[in-house]
Amino acid sequence: MMRIKGFDPVKLGLRLEELVQRGSDRKYYRFRGTRFYGGSSTGDVVGCNLRCIFCWSGRARDDPRLGFFVSPEQAYDRLSNIARRHKYRYIRLSGGEPTIGWRHLLSLLDFIENSDFIFILETNGILIGALRERARSLAKYSRMHVRVSIKACNEEWFAKLTLAEPKAFTYQLMAVNNLLDYGVNFHVALFMSYGDDACWRSLLERLINIAGQEIVDLLEPEYLVLYPNVKKRLQLYEKILGIKPRVVFEPKRR
Ligand code: SF4
Repeated sequence: MMRIKGFDPVKLGLRLEELVQRGSDRKYYRFRGTRFYGGSSTGDVVGCNLRCIFCWSGRARDDPRLGFFVSPEQAYDRLSNIARRHKYRYIRLSGGEPTIGWRHLLSLLDFIENSDFIFILETNGILIGALRERARSLAKYSRMHVRVSIKACNEEWFAKLTLAEPKAFTYQLMAVNNLLDYGVNFHVALFMSYGDDACWRSLLERLINIAGQEIVDLLEPEYLVLYPNVKKRLQLYEKILGIKPRVVFEPKRR
């Protein structure tokens, strides 16, 4: 199997932050209602610091020239209007990585804090793991829940699946450590479509070492969903990397 040297996702994240954030405005490319969490109002943001080969996002994930700037107030208005119209309780950001554009995110959370909604911060955790103060500044929000999505069972798989450098896998684990230290409300999703049982067992041990046995109750398995654009991306990379998923799902109809 091919070894990946990979890029530094912290550097990329901070560089992207300069391009997709202006003051506390941030670039989005879409607002919509989705079926996730029993219905959630969703803003799709531009830019991610990983390049997951199973990602469903389109060009706006990689190209910071796309999208339009939105202030935290405008984002809250659009998200809360969709939520009210559909009677959703949850608001979330998707499409890219919401922790890129930190000033914007915190201002948006300030609006949520004075509302009846719950914000789900879906993150790959890289910046929260690398920059501990980011975890600390989340601690004051009571209407927010963090979902850290760990993309692989070890460094080698992380590099293959995200194309980032293997050692950056540690930041995903550090995010768990930092969120726990600051008492932030969170749980961990594990993307389990690749890697064997031994690899996943060893990750479980690493997580238990960081967060104690209780972490096991906070784990949510996550699997590859073969959306049409995902299929295309995967066909290309699976050939180059010589890998195959062990669990795959077909997309549900919305
Ligand atoms: S972290 Fe999420 S948005 Fe970013 S590349 Fe991976 S799956 Fe896509």
